[in-house]
Amino acid sequence: MSLSDVFNLRRTLAFRLVLWYSAIFTISTFCLFLVLYAQIVSVIDHRTDESLLEEFDELSRMLSIKGVDDLKTLLTLEAESEGTEEVFFRVFNPDGTELFSTDMTSWSTLISEPAPTFLEEQNFQFETSPVPDRQHDVRILRGVMQGNTIMEIGVSTKGNDLFLEKLRHIFGTLFAIFVVLAFLIGWFMARRALSGLEDVTRTAQHIASGAFEKRVPDKARGAEIEQLTSTFNTMLDRIHLLLKGMRDLTDAMAHDLRSPLTRIRGVAEMTLTTESSLDDYKAMAANTIEESDRLLEMINTMMDISAVEYGIDKVEREDIDLTTVIEDACGLFAPVAENKDISIQYSMPPSTIISGDRARIQRLVANLLDNALKYTPSGGRVVVRLLEAASELQVIFTDNGIGVSEEDLPHIFERFYRCDHSRTEPGTGLGLSLAKAIAHFHGGDITVTSTLQQGSTFTIHLPRSSA
Ligand code: ADP
Repeated sequence: MSLSDVFNLRRTLAFRLVLWYSAIFTISTFCLFLVLYAQIVSVIDHRTDESLLEEFDELSRMLSIKGVDDLKTLLTLEAESEGTEEVFFRVFNPDGTELFSTDMTSWSTLISEPAPTFLEEQNFQFETSPVPDRQHDVRILRGVMQGNTIMEIGVSTKGNDLFLEKLRHIFGTLFAIFVVLAFLIGWFMARRALSGLEDVTRTAQHIASGAFEKRVPDKARGAEIEQLTSTFNTMLDRIHLLLKGMRDLTDAMAHDLRSPLTRIRGVAEMTLTTESSLDDYKAMAANTIEESDRLLEMINTMMDISAVEYGIDKVEREDIDLTTVIEDACGLFAPVAENKDISIQYSMPPSTIISGDRARIQRLVANLLDNALKYTPSGGRVVVRLLEAASELQVIFTDNGIGVSEEDLPHIFERFYRCDHSRTEPGTGLGLSLAKAIAHFHGGDITVTSTLQQGSTFTIHLPRSSA
């Protein structure tokens, strides 16, 4: 691992998490061991004092029963059996002069200390004092016995000290193991918890290098990360859809814009290369305007579809009376219908309010009405009905026109798709795509049933919630 790797590692979230986690764990464990150690020390000290006290009581009883001489013999024997360097007994007269003591060779430095101060009100007292030239301290109990005789029992703290030293060693080792384990477990957990983020980063890197189909793998990693990955994947799906839409659109545009442009160029070239009169030039200009209008309409419709489909435009929702919109459209198309000798009939409730984008709803209704009139031969009939179902509103356009074949039917909502038998009519093949996009935009849909040479029924479904 290079120096820069170490530096980078220090900046990672996983490392910082582990550091915090380990620091908190270390401090808590240290405090825990400290409290435990203090408890053990206090228990040991307490037990030492208790056993000294028990011994004192027993010797006190002994003195009252058997007298000083027997006590002296007993104390000498006891000191020898426990080791005169571990324990000593001293007995003093009430005036402080020593009556007798066990072998004090190992405690010579202690008795050279000033003579012990004797008790006043208390019957006994404890004291821990260092023994000059010896490694361990001594715990001393001084108590008043029968006839105001004073007894001093001293026990070396060596046993306790050795035990505590061992304990400190064990605690130290355990502490070190715990800290290392805490760091390793913390590192493992942090890496595991953050592995989802790494997946997201990795996927983003793949996408940045052009692999647009990559997605973050779906694994159980905890709610937050799962939410992030699912949002990230949804975002990628949407971007993918947008890119695909744009690509399809560009392909279709390139294909469909070529024909009018070729026509414009052809007419212009012919007018230029042949002997032309003013009328010819006028005809060419009129032709060019017509084809340009067609191109402009195509481009505008495509932009409209994109705006609606991908939510590029701001939604301008307002309350619209659908009944009025349909009536207005029928009125607008009445001259066209009259020209073709087609009757338009409509039946609607007096008023049906929906919330939506007025201009787009008008466009939706107009497109379907326009198609119905366009693809119905003279003498035909177009019926428009507005139905209020329980959960939705339906605007139904029924014509008895040329209809759509079974093979064409699944494709008529695709951009630039035009059925062969309808090519004699002007059109761009974008009207139904736009209509469907507008219906989707309002949370609805368009369905169609059609029979070739008999007629078609297009139904706009709009959810009641948008009403
Ligand atoms: P355009 O009408 O400009 O060709 P549309 O997207 O509106 O484009 O329609 C796509 C195709 O669906 C039309 O070319 C036509 O073949 C068919 N179509 C649409 N409406 C009807 C209808 N009412 N009757 C028969 N065919 C229709």
